[in-house]
Amino acid sequence: MGLHNLLEDEVINTINNLLKDRHNICTCDKCRLDIAAIALNNLNPRYVVTEKGVLYGKLDTLDYQFDADLIKEVIKAINIVADKPHHE
Ligand SMILES: [Zn+2]
Repeated sequence: MGLHNLLEDEVINTINNLLKDRHNICTCDKCRLDIAAIALNNLNPRYVVTEKGVLYGKLDTLDYQFDADLIKEVIKAINIVADKPHHE
């Protein structure tokens, strides 16, 4: 049994989708993770119980407002990291 924050998957997916269209900024793994950390810290976690890596409960469908907030926070985080990448 374990805990998994559903937002991690959502945020990573959203970052990957948004960065596809951003060719003027660094999209290395370090920057992706920095973006994910910033966005996740600004969003409420959605923990679910997993068993052997399998989701235990049925996911509730992600509602529109939740999605809009998530995308907003990811875009903010992308802009923060694009301004100041944490590496040379
Ligand atoms: Zn980078």
